[in-house]
Amino acid sequence: MTRRLLLHSVVFLFITVESQAQVTPWLQWSLLPEKVMDEIIGETSGENAWHSIMETGGYDKDRLASEYDSTFYEVSYFFNKLKEYNLPGTELVRFPGGQTWDAVKGDLWEVTPMRQKIASYRDMAAMLASGSTSADVTAELVWVGLGRPDEIQGKNVKGKIVVTEGSASSVHQIACLDSGALGVVSINSPRPYFDPLQLAWASVRGDQKRNLQAKFAFQIPPREGEFLKKRLLAGEKITVRAQVSAEMRKYELQDITCAIPGTDPNAGEIIFSAHIHEGYVKQGGNDDISGCAAILEVARTLNTLINEGRIPQPKRTIRFLWGPEFSGTGPWVKANKQLMKKTLCNINMDMVGEWLSKNKSFMCLMRTSYGNPHYVNDVVENYYRYVGEGNRERIQNRSNFYPVPKRIVAPTGADEPFYYSIETHYGASDHEVFNDWGVRVPGVMMIAWPDQWYHTSGDHVDKSDPTQLKRVVIIGAASAYTIATADDNMAIRIAAEIGGNAARRLSHQFERGIQELNGAAAETLAVAYKLARVYLETAAVNETNTLETVLQLAVDKKQVNTYIENVQRTVDNLARTHATALEMHMKATAKRLNTAAVSTDLTVAEKKASKMTPKPTDKVMANGYGGYREYMEKVPVETRERLKITPRSYFGASELQLLINGKNTILDIKNMLDAQNERRMDLQDILNYVEFLKIAGLVEL
Ligand SMILES: [Zn+2]
Repeated sequence: MTRRLLLHSVVFLFITVESQAQVTPWLQWSLLPEKVMDEIIGETSGENAWHSIMETGGYDKDRLASEYDSTFYEVSYFFNKLKEYNLPGTELVRFPGGQTWDAVKGDLWEVTPMRQKIASYRDMAAMLASGSTSADVTAELVWVGLGRPDEIQGKNVKGKIVVTEGSASSVHQIACLDSGALGVVSINSPRPYFDPLQLAWASVRGDQKRNLQAKFAFQIPPREGEFLKKRLLAGEKITVRAQVSAEMRKYELQDITCAIPGTDPNAGEIIFSAHIHEGYVKQGGNDDISGCAAILEVARTLNTLINEGRIPQPKRTIRFLWGPEFSGTGPWVKANKQLMKKTLCNINMDMVGEWLSKNKSFMCLMRTSYGNPHYVNDVVENYYRYVGEGNRERIQNRSNFYPVPKRIVAPTGADEPFYYSIETHYGASDHEVFNDWGVRVPGVMMIAWPDQWYHTSGDHVDKSDPTQLKRVVIIGAASAYTIATADDNMAIRIAAEIGGNAARRLSHQFERGIQELNGAAAETLAVAYKLARVYLETAAVNETNTLETVLQLAVDKKQVNTYIENVQRTVDNLARTHATALEMHMKATAKRLNTAAVSTDLTVAEKKASKMTPKPTDKVMANGYGGYREYMEKVPVETRERLKITPRSYFGASELQLLINGKNTILDIKNMLDAQNERRMDLQDILNYVEFLKIAGLVEL
């Protein structure tokens, strides 16, 4: 017995020592000192941010008509909060807007055989499709299935209201505009089995060419719509009365800004952005009131900590911007051209409040593209990892008092991991206003994806999580404060961090190249090998360029630059090692395919392209955000046609534009586009586009 006990304790001792000797697979460090992090973590309130969503994104409010002439409800709320928090430089800026649809009433009642309400704008704003026009009609319902042309043409829908499982807007087009139906009732839903109460926001429109006005469309969630469908399929004759009253209202664009001033007004700025409206009727809780609430909490946290002397005032200014997506951010950025010149980077928060497990989503960081390299990527990534790795349990820590090493959980929020992901560039939000060719302020986006209630009637505060908001606010505040306070030592730390991450990113591109070779056939080996090298080499160039941006932060440029050059050399050596390994793998692949080894020799066209270096002219940035487009529009139509330039190609070519920087050759540009996109660029298309820009006076060769 004693011997067994003794044996037991020996084993126990052994296990304890063993487990203490382990190191977690990922160390959680932050660029900022731990005591600054603790102040930020403690001060941020996920609940406070959640309350802002509750106030402005709790449900789809029927906006008062008077708001259109004065100040929108959400704008007043955020503006007043900034005043309450004493944020310096709080300002409400107005820009000319336009006209927008607003409903006054939208009721759909069954009149025979039963008397019951089927849908109402008062119940759910998404029940009435935007663009619906005023009507008061009583008519028979007719089932048209998915509402495809053949399903509609077979039935006499004229003077009737069609009921469909298809989307309100497309069925409205076919049934109302083409076939004389009075209106549409849609029971369509993007996720009927996940959430049978969810309605996607829909809109209908007329046809100007045929001089046809829009009719109306109602939507019913599938849970209720199912009853109507069954009754109609059983042959029941149902008559309804639809009453719609809608108006077009004039509105102006309303932006709010504030700024936490730095001690040195010339040291550069960091700007946060979030969009305050999804639409004026369509109102999103997570998209993007959550971003608005989060950057408000970033502002409050930093301002409080600085005012109370708990953290020092930074050298650089931290600015905040709330406005309608693109339409409000664009004019503000355009109107602040001088400010943009000294703005170092942008952090855009769009859909950041999501309860991650409910939404089955990851909190993503969308990096800048190769056209806009910047250290902001690696600074924000540092805090994603800090929060992410610090908030998951690992078996190595199971006997610790806190199995989660750096627990960040809001008192009423989710107690779950921070599922995060560092991703390549994606646009489609306000950071693109900053990333624009005419602005060139590198911008990243923080976004939770997917969102199971995205662009639906269910996008409200009940899908938001205080813990998630707290974590996002910490990442935002710490990232901005790191950049705002960075001295030469921090610049060196950031450069080292980029170097470390670069090794991982290069390895990924190397593996991507290996896969390219693995998938090649004898006749495609040369192309595959070229691509494999392109992935690796363009990634290395991107890292080198990213490292160079760190110099923005340096005071003793020479000393910091010496360090940066050393890291660049390390990156370069690693890329060379990988290139050698790729060559080896290419040769092994050739042998496996019974073919000769291939080379990366340039074709005649590639050789020519490698000697052409387009350089942007002053006109590109002269008129700020999107200002260069007016020069594009002046290019004669015949020229555009000859060069195969469509409006799509000059709006969709943002990365191509950014890569024109006076350093990249046309071949470099093609390679960088190929490395970042699934679609391979045609060299001639790039040449055409550059010629188009040359004629527009935006580029010199
Ligand atoms: Zn959005």
